[in-house]
Amino acid sequence: MIEVSSLVKRYGDHTAVDHLSFTVEEGQITGFLGPNGAGKSTTMNIITGYLAPSEGRVVIDGHDILEEPEEAKKCIGYLPELPPLYPEMTVREYLDFAAELKKVPKEKKAEEIEKAMDEVKITDMANRLIKNLSKGYCQRVGLAQAILGNPKILILDEPTVGLDPKQIIEIRELMKNLGKKHTVLLSSHILSEVSAVCDYVMIISHGKLVASDTPENLSKLTQGSNILDLTVRGQMGTIVSAVGMMSDIEDVQYADSAENGCVDVRIKTAQDVDIRENIFYRMAELQCPILKMQYSSLSLEDVFLELTEDSEAEENSEAAEDTSEENDTEEFFEEEFPEDTPEEENIEEKEKENESNL
Ligand code: ADP
Ligand code: MG
Repeated sequence: MIEVSSLVKRYGDHTAVDHLSFTVEEGQITGFLGPNGAGKSTTMNIITGYLAPSEGRVVIDGHDILEEPEEAKKCIGYLPELPPLYPEMTVREYLDFAAELKKVPKEKKAEEIEKAMDEVKITDMANRLIKNLSKGYCQRVGLAQAILGNPKILILDEPTVGLDPKQIIEIRELMKNLGKKHTVLLSSHILSEVSAVCDYVMIISHGKLVASDTPENLSKLTQGSNILDLTVRGQMGTIVSAVGMMSDIEDVQYADSAENGCVDVRIKTAQDVDIRENIFYRMAELQCPILKMQYSSLSLEDVFLELTEDSEAEENSEAAEDTSEENDTEEFFEEEFPEDTPEEENIEEKEKENESNL
């Protein structure tokens, strides 16, 4: 449905998208995941025809975006990172205006607008001014605008950024529903969002695709090792020196346990190594009872960090002036506090992007 081949976008001597190739299959919700500055918005702006690529090709449902832009764009509904809403218009006026831009046939316009409003549940707000709507409702208006004219493909750029947790849940539900009727490409820097909503995930870092698979298969990527989690009652020092003397351990972390007088220990070993009995006897000798011992698998978070870590370190020196870089990891886990994110981003960049979306 969407074919991207060897896409490159350079801003001066900075390569924002670096020979990116992927296919989005019809009928799926595909997640486009990456830290801030990874090149998600740039790629989406190229796919939707708002930005010209430096190199490479985009084909939408058989139409090359440069050779047949009209046909290609007709297949796409786009919700940009900063939707160009007009605060002085009512919801219905705005959608009417959007329907005209999209050349929805006159006789179908009213019906299409009602349908779009119904689908994103904003019919009650039809006569309200956009400036009086909450951010969550504004985002729904943006979604309604995207689905006007019933395009086959929906491209949604970070649709939950800046929303509160309740609004996030509502928008995610809406996206899942939209995924039943449309092919959806959804970008996000929040892993749990992508794994909750998407059938397929593409992870990008510094403009390059670093992994793509189903959420389930991605979590299997790190299964080359065993992670053993323990809660042991005893002194931190005793436990640290006992575990430190054991062989076959690749990595170990200690933390004070939520259980009083206990230590949580996370041990990483090679996959074919089982140290459970050794640990049991060793702790028994020291009279440090093991209250819990279980294998745990690495989460998708671990996969994501592992995949995006190397290239980040590599570019940290050259991107020293990019303050958003430092916040990537932190923000990544900050799903519950999305309202913090806009301030943290480079405002100048956003403005530039906004201009290109209008
Ligand atoms: P994402 O959406 O994944 O956060 P973007 O596509 O917005 O990433 O940005 C990718 C990279 O390109 C970033 O390093 C950003 O600073 C840079 N960039 C984006 N837009 C512009 C622009 N108009 N001019 C110069 N650099 C830009
Ligand atoms: Mg972006």
